[in-house]
Amino acid sequence: MTQINVNKLIADYPLVQDLINLKHVAWFNPNATTTEAGLPYVGLTISDVQDAEARLNRFAPYLMKAFPETQATQGIIESDVVAIANMQTALEARYQTPITGKILLKKDSHLPISGSIKARGGIYEVLTHAEKLALGAGLLSIDDNYEVLFSDKFRQFFSQYSIAVGSTGNLGMSIGIMSAKLGFSVSVHMSADARQWKKDKLRSHGVNVVEYEQDYSIAVEQGRKEAEQDPNCFFIDDENSTTLFLGYAVAGLRLKKQFAEQGVIVDKDHPLFVYLPCGVGGGPGGVAFGLKLAFGDDAHCLFAEPTHSPCMLLGVHTGLHDGISVQEIGIDNITAADGLAVGRASGFVGRAMERLIDGYYTLDDQDMYNLLGLLNKTEGIKLEPSALAGMTGCIHVTQNTNYWQSKGLSAQQMANATHLVWATGGGMVPSDEMQKYLAQAKLS
Ligand SMILES: *Cc1c(COP(=O)(O)O)cnc(C)c1O
Repeated sequence: MTQINVNKLIADYPLVQDLINLKHVAWFNPNATTTEAGLPYVGLTISDVQDAEARLNRFAPYLMKAFPETQATQGIIESDVVAIANMQTALEARYQTPITGKILLKKDSHLPISGSIKARGGIYEVLTHAEKLALGAGLLSIDDNYEVLFSDKFRQFFSQYSIAVGSTGNLGMSIGIMSAKLGFSVSVHMSADARQWKKDKLRSHGVNVVEYEQDYSIAVEQGRKEAEQDPNCFFIDDENSTTLFLGYAVAGLRLKKQFAEQGVIVDKDHPLFVYLPCGVGGGPGGVAFGLKLAFGDDAHCLFAEPTHSPCMLLGVHTGLHDGISVQEIGIDNITAADGLAVGRASGFVGRAMERLIDGYYTLDDQDMYNLLGLLNKTEGIKLEPSALAGMTGCIHVTQNTNYWQSKGLSAQQMANATHLVWATGGGMVPSDEMQKYLAQAKLS
């Protein structure tokens, strides 16, 4: 890999100096295009997403059996959208910015099975792999009721195969729990920042947890290496997987239905802004792809990252994508935001989605803790720190008049805006851990 000349990089991209100084930055990409112009670069289409949705529907009867908590939604892993009016008032006061439009919260934090956005992509990829094996062995046909997979026969069949993944925690949780339930032998390679309770929980499900003293990239690399030595082992590649990406993308079409049911209008006069916490990029990238397919130019997506791990902002802004890590510009990649502690972004997602993402911003750990406390106090909703990263997006959008005017939006249209904060995790955080998070919040 070529050495990065940091001085030259700063000269070419002065914003890099602000990143190095760990400032809160907001960058609206001047090269963002219309949805129509940007979608062809993704390399995937709406029919790929519909295919993923159909696959998840086939698995719904199995999931209802295997995870009774999914019965309420007929085996579909989906989350609620709720208004947070008290939080909106509190944000306006805290940031002394009147927010036009309405803030809604997308509670992926409370998705069944693994309590984070990873219950979309991670579980989808395991199911896709299981289906492929079972179809290939002639044990299953796509017209079958997939309930049959919940049996000793299939658990025995899957036990011949193994699955491996590298993770900072949440991806490991969803892939570990899902794989073990189907009967696979599964190894989760965990980075140093992964929480003890997540490791304990996985082990209680019979998952082999391998611990590293290094960060996410090393855990992924080691997992990949180990898997390469075993032809029956399938490695789930968080950095490059289009399957994971499609699992996330299903959220877009589903949200469109959900909004229709709730009477939330999205059109030219009612713009939708969506704020997505970004780690390696697959989750937010996949969801944003789905949103663009569902709502086109009326959906505006922004990515949020910790000041200590702004890998996607760095990669897209400099055009270097996965050719640069935050460590190479002297940033430590240490953050309390699980899932966001990623130093090098996915090259696939950065390149596929750069034209379709309007902007990127950063915030620090203390902001996330403060917002975590504020949301708990005003709405009684408990999230993990990363999941609060989306909460300051509406402040940046509201304050950057040039940005929304460049999108052809008037103050009148902004008054009708929906600001959707994608709450990516927290539903399974044990209460003693949550108390520690809450104790970090400064509310005044
Ligand atoms: C993984 C994760 C994200 C980001 O997803 P990426 O695919 O890594 O970008 C955001 N929030 C939480 C809680 C996560 O676990």
